[in-house]
Amino acid sequence: MERKIQRVIEICENNYGKPKPFRLSNSLDLLVETILSQNTNDKNTFKAFSALKKYYVNYEEVLAANETKLAKIIYSSGFYNLKAKRIQEALRAIKEDRGSLNLDFLKNKSKSVAFNYLIKLPGIGPKTAAIVLTFGLNHESIPVDTHVYRVSQRLGLVPKTFDRTKTQEFLENNTKRGLKNALHYYLIKHGREVCRARKPSCSECFLKKECKHFKNK
Ligand code: SF4
Repeated sequence: MERKIQRVIEICENNYGKPKPFRLSNSLDLLVETILSQNTNDKNTFKAFSALKKYYVNYEEVLAANETKLAKIIYSSGFYNLKAKRIQEALRAIKEDRGSLNLDFLKNKSKSVAFNYLIKLPGIGPKTAAIVLTFGLNHESIPVDTHVYRVSQRLGLVPKTFDRTKTQEFLENNTKRGLKNALHYYLIKHGREVCRARKPSCSECFLKKECKHFKNK
């Protein structure tokens, strides 16, 4: 499977170009923003996150905030009561463990140690952990969102029976170091622009020769 993944990356690179390098973001910002993004779109996530950052000076204030008030501030993300609770629980766990609200110590740990630390935090699953690892801590991972899952399934990059967690593990183990961020970027881009959930544009797709779904049509 490693060779097929490699071919998909090469074809995408020829068609989409290399992904632009990104600057690392604050890992706590990523953690909170990803909790806010659960079951909503980018626009609502951004609105809620901006409101939170505007209202509270730092995460100490978010942790100490009245939960109902916090829920009101992040209202636009939907499921705001649950999300307020999750954000405070995750922050509380970090504070109790480290004595401060900072995840930068994980930059010096191995990827697996960092991943296991993150998924033990309340409300944090493999996707959120992988986002924080990749974009906050410089540990290459492949967060599996709806696009990554759908496109990798259709292409046949992972066994059909795999759920998102297994898909993430499989893709990470079968993608060469230095190419994981690229694969993540291409699967999302392809899922948004060509291999959409409804009516994928198979006839125009430059990956059709590699695609299991297309061959089985
Ligand atoms: S051929 Fe169709 S199903 Fe396969 S990757 Fe392309 S758009 Fe998706």
